[in-house]
Amino acid sequence: MVGSPVRTALVTGGNRGIGFEACRELAMTGLRVVLTARDQGRGTRAAEQLRSEGWDVRFEVMDVASAESVIACAERLASNGVAIDALVNNAAIYPTDRFLATGEETMRETVETNLLGPFRTCRAFVPGMLARGYGRVVNVSSDIGSINAGVPGPAAYGITKAALHALTRRLAREVRGDVKVNAMSPGWVRTDMGGAAAPRSVEQACDTLVWLATLPADGPTDGLFFDRRPIPW
Ligand code: NAP
Repeated sequence: MVGSPVRTALVTGGNRGIGFEACRELAMTGLRVVLTARDQGRGTRAAEQLRSEGWDVRFEVMDVASAESVIACAERLASNGVAIDALVNNAAIYPTDRFLATGEETMRETVETNLLGPFRTCRAFVPGMLARGYGRVVNVSSDIGSINAGVPGPAAYGITKAALHALTRRLAREVRGDVKVNAMSPGWVRTDMGGAAAPRSVEQACDTLVWLATLPADGPTDGLFFDRRPIPW
């Protein structure tokens, strides 16, 4: 009897917070996981932790703010015969300035990480998904990026998350076959970014993330989700 293939998921910013828990929970569903992080030491320790819990997790360096780093990671994986079936664009930074207090350098760094990061990883891994006829892209966004809600919250962060919504919709319309491209809002979550007062756990955040990364063929695409429910862009 032929079983279903073991899929491989790649998570950016997997060394802490929602990304780290996503690696754990994706592995718990039976996926092989590539935990990526920009720092060799932090990434290595995070992957070792998950392997010590019994999960199939390997580490690769990837700084999403660097085109060279993303391409090099994709080339290392390809040369090791690792194909990425599910891509979780989780890495992000959160500058807190208002619009008129946001400097050019802050905006540039936020665009490099929160928008060009997912742009680069999609360009690196979605062609392989299209060639194999299967893929899941999960863009971890925020309700702060909601155009409908007026892009509330910090400026550079909200603008780049709104742009991530546009990236999601545009790519979702370009892919073919069983390739799905969705975005999600994890809510306000207790991490270094969200702070200790946040009401939601990383486990709650990852429920929708893992669901989108493992959607069946008749699952949704081109959507923005919170707690598995579609929400306005
Ligand atoms: P976090 O605790 O601050 O973790 C951010 C992760 O992104 C870290 O692993 C960090 O790595 C990584 N990262 C930052 N820049 C990177 C780069 N250039 N290359 C690779 N990795 C990079 O944040 P979080 O709360 O887990 O947030 C995860 C996602 O959820 C983000 O997309 C965020 O916007 C979204 N989100 C979070 C909340 C919340 O309340 N926490 C709410 C809405 C949306 P280092 O350790 O090297 O810095």
